[in-house]
Amino acid sequence: MKFEDLGLSQYLLRAICGEGYETATPIQAQAIPIVLEGHDLMGCAQTGTGKTAAFALPTLHALAGDKRTKLRKRPIRSLVLAPTRELAVQVTASFAKYGKFTQLHTTTIYGGVNQNPQVRALQKGVDIVVATPGRLLDLMNQGHVDLKQVEILILDEADQMLDMGFLPDLKRIVDAVPNDRQTLMFSATMPDAIRRLAGQWLDDPKHLQV
Ligand code: AMP
Repeated sequence: MKFEDLGLSQYLLRAICGEGYETATPIQAQAIPIVLEGHDLMGCAQTGTGKTAAFALPTLHALAGDKRTKLRKRPIRSLVLAPTRELAVQVTASFAKYGKFTQLHTTTIYGGVNQNPQVRALQKGVDIVVATPGRLLDLMNQGHVDLKQVEILILDEADQMLDMGFLPDLKRIVDAVPNDRQTLMFSATMPDAIRRLAGQWLDDPKHLQV
């Protein structure tokens, strides 16, 4: 499937072309139209399938072009939760690559390092935050993060986040995001706990498996 046929903006197609991608992977071809239509999504996909672009491209498409990118202080409009610092950094790099011709800004929040640079980045205003749950909750509790304008919530490697004991943190974070958001959840495996959370957090989702 060609990226040109998926309904993505020229700004994104230029960046994709610059990356040397020729065709969309199966999860991209299936997920991108679903997300662009505004549906919730439960995607069962491993790393290496191209799942990051499958959620990053339609998210960038949905957020770009909004006048709020011109505000002095941009609200956080998309939140991506990931289990590890490594994945969070990698996902942020993907948003930056695919979004390089948009006006959108992305930052990463993770534990184990001084929080001050992360707080400063949040204070400047960013459109997209990619975070590990523990540090994000810490910063929320200190009043540094406002999630009330989040439109698209993404849970990446949800099974990993549960295995690492992040469920209580995830519940608090999801509770702080508006209910009328769009939610995308990705998991390599589909144990009962993930199915239950999908039932609670996703609204009439489309299901994909690759
Ligand atoms: P992911 O599964 O998201 O971790 O992506 C795995 C790798 O595939 C990353 O290095 C991407 O840059 C690359 N990739 C993603 N989509 C495509 C595509 N459509 N064509 C070629 N490479 C891709």
